[in-house]
Amino acid sequence: MTNISRRSILAAGAVGGLTSVAAHAAGVFGNPDLPPQGAINSSPQALLDPGPQNPALAGNLPSFVNPPPTDVGGMPLFWSSFNIAPKRVQGGGWARQVNAEAFPISTTIAGVNMRLDAGGIRELHWHQQAEWAVMTYGNIRVTVLDNQGHPYVEDVKEGDLWYFPGGAPHSLQGLGPDGGEFVLAFDRGAAGEYNTLMLSDWLAHTPPDVLAKNFGMPADVFKNIPLQQRWIFQGKVPGPLAADQKAVMSANGAAPYPFVFRLSEMKPNKATKSGQIQIADSTNFRVSTTIAAALVTVKPGAMRELHWHPNADEWQYYIKGEGRMTVFNTGPAAVTADFRPGDIGYVLKNLGHYVENTGTTDLVFMEIFKTDRYEEVSLSDWLAHTPPDMIAATLNIDPAAIAQIPKNAPGVMPA
Ligand code: MN
Ligand code: MN
Repeated sequence: MTNISRRSILAAGAVGGLTSVAAHAAGVFGNPDLPPQGAINSSPQALLDPGPQNPALAGNLPSFVNPPPTDVGGMPLFWSSFNIAPKRVQGGGWARQVNAEAFPISTTIAGVNMRLDAGGIRELHWHQQAEWAVMTYGNIRVTVLDNQGHPYVEDVKEGDLWYFPGGAPHSLQGLGPDGGEFVLAFDRGAAGEYNTLMLSDWLAHTPPDVLAKNFGMPADVFKNIPLQQRWIFQGKVPGPLAADQKAVMSANGAAPYPFVFRLSEMKPNKATKSGQIQIADSTNFRVSTTIAAALVTVKPGAMRELHWHPNADEWQYYIKGEGRMTVFNTGPAAVTADFRPGDIGYVLKNLGHYVENTGTTDLVFMEIFKTDRYEEVSLSDWLAHTPPDMIAATLNIDPAAIAQIPKNAPGVMPA
């Protein structure tokens, strides 16, 4: 195995022109474990899959059906999707969730996808976990009272984020002309949208005389409160934002930092001819102390470079386009999955990964981490700042080529 290049082996595999020599070589080179794995080490007959098929699922996950020849071993499933989650539908909107019950690897983040029509209300509520969100469509009004008693009301649109600390009471409402849709991330995988603490539930299960005493008014005031929780219900489209902001004003003053962040409008932290990365964490989105997020855009033919994250698992939400990610772990293990809008990926802390745009339009996805600071280690940045002799001795690469490795962690390649 000295004069058959990896490239020629992969090319041979791609056209199905395997020889026993190439197959043997691949076992030595691309996959040192025995017995050799991957399509390149198989035969055309063995590669057939004559059993039952679900063509819609198989067609969406081609890398599961035909793994790249370099894939090896296995790992906990890191692919899921809102598209396979049932909706809970009520007047005014719906929600569906993918939390750790449905997606066991996702221990740090629980995902919720919610739609509110114009006037649709997500009831006043609170919960143990912090709530981070990205708007994917339309317009929503958010209200929150922070943990020091500062009220806050703001309107958000596609590309905006919000963050509510754990325990901070809040509500959401769809605005005109067509409400909105968004994805929530709770900062605990076991959390869920169907077990929040709701205003209607609490009042319905508190004696009327206690309510009277608590609010200093006759019990009669509460004679028409709903006896079942509202969760999501149809309301009227609210009036001007300024009027709501004035109505909630407190002697405690305004919140010191906004609970909303215009992520898609910020100057990218990294930009190349192939795409860009926009990062929101506690350094610029000050209130977001438990969630860091990156909005990644990868142009057709380009890829999010090989990298890992040293401080947190990565929860991904795919918004536009088509992509393919390979995750690398010890073992060795390397597993590839395909992603489309609405899909979710999850990469454990420190596992190597890259994401290729496999479509003909921009691939846009979010990387979300349960941490206060975004952190990343770029493979090329590491190699570019390691003594070249060390790289040459390890990888048998010409020192002249080592000098060409990108030195600035470009994020999206080619730069
Ligand atoms: Mn909430
Ligand atoms: Mn990543």
